[in-house]
Amino acid sequence: LRESLVQSEKMAAVGTLVAGLSHELNNPLGIILGFAQAQLMRPSLDNGSRTAFECIETHTQRCARLVRTLLDFSRRSGPVRERIEVGRMLERVYELASGQAERSQVQLKIIESPVDLPGLEANVPEMESALLNLVGNALDATPPGGTVSVGAHLSPARDGMELFVTDTGSGMTPDVRQRIFDPFFTTKPVGQGTGLGLSITRSIVESYGGRIDVETAPGAGTTMRLWLPVAPAHPTEVSA
Ligand code: ADP
Repeated sequence: LRESLVQSEKMAAVGTLVAGLSHELNNPLGIILGFAQAQLMRPSLDNGSRTAFECIETHTQRCARLVRTLLDFSRRSGPVRERIEVGRMLERVYELASGQAERSQVQLKIIESPVDLPGLEANVPEMESALLNLVGNALDATPPGGTVSVGAHLSPARDGMELFVTDTGSGMTPDVRQRIFDPFFTTKPVGQGTGLGLSITRSIVESYGGRIDVETAPGAGTTMRLWLPVAPAHPTEVSA
């Protein structure tokens, strides 16, 4: 519990601090990127300068991505509840991730639940981006020829719904596993990871009263599970 309190305090501090900072960084980053890209269009550019400007471009884009992620997160107003049709959400996640899966030569599968699933009450774009974070990570960790499966079912205790993403990828060492929810922790190459995906996903899921679990072993793949409380079958009107 203490660990999770420290984690949410950290995220709250990140939220307040970066709202202003990210906003201020947006314009100068855009300007640096624009000048670097203009230089890269010059046919007469010598090789040394080209390498330098490419480096500026890559790293500025990385900063811009980080700033965008932080800005989106800091603008979040808190949980918004609407009824989510889980089957449709999984289809959309499939559509959005299938390009990356194809490029990585990984098979992406949707696992249909054998029973009709109850609805979830959460914000559609947030839950989609939480799932897409997990699918993106799974695809990054899985070598060509592997499989990433996404699905949903009633949780074994039938007290909520489980959304899961399973991959046949690299798995995680205990060291990595311990740190995956730390803001800014990433093992990905420069320019590819912000280290914010899982800490943001966890904050989103916890704000809906849910939780996130990981099951992994080096070389044996990973399963990430999101548990969420389900919406009541007949929601009662609450009068103000
Ligand atoms: P990022 O994707 O930007 O690195 P995340 O917070 O989403 O940030 O993930 C943090 C780290 O957790 C990743 O860099 C990776 O080391 C590890 N990780 C997450 N998901 C998986 C997975 N499915 N398989 C192996 N490692 C993973």
